[in-house]
Amino acid sequence: MASRVIPVDPFDLVIFGGTGDLACRKIIPGLYRRYLAGQIPPGARIIGAARADLGHDAYREMVRAAIRDHVSENKQIPETVATFVEHIHYVQLDARGVTGWKELGGLLRKGVIRAFYFSVGPGLFADLAERLVQHGLNSAGARVVVEKPFGHDLQSARELNAVLARCFDEHHIYRIDHYLGKETVQNLMVVRFGNTLFEPLWNARYVDHIQITVAETVGVAGRGEYYDRAGAMRDMVQNHMMQLLCLIAMEPPSMFAADAVRDEKLKVIRALDPVSAGDLVRGQYTRKGDIPSYREDVDNPDSLTESFIALKAHISNWRWTGTPFYLRTGKRLKARVSEIAVVFKKPPHSIFGRQGGRSGNMLVIRLQPNEGIVLNVTIKEPGPGGMRLIEVPLDMSFAETLGEDRADIPDAYERLIMDVIRGNQTLFMRGDEVEAAWAWTDPVIAAWEESGNEPLPYEPFSSGPEDALMLMHRKGRRWREIADEL
Ligand code: NAP
Repeated sequence: MASRVIPVDPFDLVIFGGTGDLACRKIIPGLYRRYLAGQIPPGARIIGAARADLGHDAYREMVRAAIRDHVSENKQIPETVATFVEHIHYVQLDARGVTGWKELGGLLRKGVIRAFYFSVGPGLFADLAERLVQHGLNSAGARVVVEKPFGHDLQSARELNAVLARCFDEHHIYRIDHYLGKETVQNLMVVRFGNTLFEPLWNARYVDHIQITVAETVGVAGRGEYYDRAGAMRDMVQNHMMQLLCLIAMEPPSMFAADAVRDEKLKVIRALDPVSAGDLVRGQYTRKGDIPSYREDVDNPDSLTESFIALKAHISNWRWTGTPFYLRTGKRLKARVSEIAVVFKKPPHSIFGRQGGRSGNMLVIRLQPNEGIVLNVTIKEPGPGGMRLIEVPLDMSFAETLGEDRADIPDAYERLIMDVIRGNQTLFMRGDEVEAAWAWTDPVIAAWEESGNEPLPYEPFSSGPEDALMLMHRKGRRWREIADEL
């Protein structure tokens, strides 16, 4: 069963930072895959912009290399690559200078959708926005895509929002969080609001707790300078994990439309209680054999920045009071996993006696690897010999349930860029959401900075510090194993 593709209208997309890592690994390969799928029309123009002295041809060569390196081989079709690169242009441009802006203006056409992707360091976001206005390129309806990190704290996020608001209408600002572009994340909304089965149980009466885990095996080498100033709380919790928490916890919006969804997410963030010191564990990975420690990776022997954090959050509203949300994320952990587990309460009484056991159901929403959704249910173990109960997964993994074609789902960036062109902001963060998330994060960070506490050490490729396990054990709960398998 082939997936349905609706071509978008012709557009001019400028990728500021078009020679950078993100552009080469994600944005350009994503655009190529959409082109291959037939979604990008003949009238589309993709313009890379950076300071490097390249002509169109050299940049097209870079684009070919990005496709070669980051698109699966079975999708590298020479004729398609050749026609795709005809859509590619390059402008040598300085975000902080005068070079290139006139040339860029010359390449942009009137009457087609115009989008600017800020794939540069966050220190340049404001410069770019202001120069676009200065050179009269922010025509009515022009969209701007802003990468993460969106600010370092509430103050800087407010300042950035203020600059963007002077240059663009909020309805044209797309603050990207690629987690929201993942198929499973959207499916989570459909599972919740497209079925009657889950929603009546989706509250503190039936849900014991919720776990959100984003674990990585990689360290921070290569991004050390940025990471050591950010840490896991700013890098993952304030944005990606907060967005996942919102989608799990929000009330049903009246419709699946940008502001209706974002209004509900905002209410969740505003209902979050402050996190107390006892409900939070910070960690830092140590050296193991040839694997350097965090402090070695960031080249800062005194660093107090966390490469791991686990915390218990509470949402004070009618639906969730009494159901904790456990969030855990870290580098150099056992496996690369992003998942949400909704752990339901145990049945109040077992009619099967001791033999039967009494475990709660669990809905696991897996973002990576193996995107999919699994519901654990209790059944009778087949065969004679009385009533022995076992837990089995009802697997809704896309590859198995929908067939290989449908499971070949677009990457998050592909989907989100096409949403920008279509003008659909539902999967992007609004300015007030980002500020509310910082308003919750800032005091937590300030409290530990004030205490001067060191993060707890943990071994690379473990599950993080012991204390993080205790955060759950204290209440008789258990984290799910950090494992590749669902
Ligand atoms: P990068 O590899 O350092 O690339 C930066 C790009 O900006 C280069 O093309 C660079 O080219 C250009 N640039 C730098 N200064 C410029 C200036 N004054 N005027 C015009 N262009 C300039 O960075 P990246 O990893 O692609 O990240 C880009 C953004 O995406 C950052 O905000 C980052 O936080 C975010 N992000 C990246 C990833 C990722 O996986 N890489 C993931 C999530 C978010 P020249 O030096 O030739 O000008």
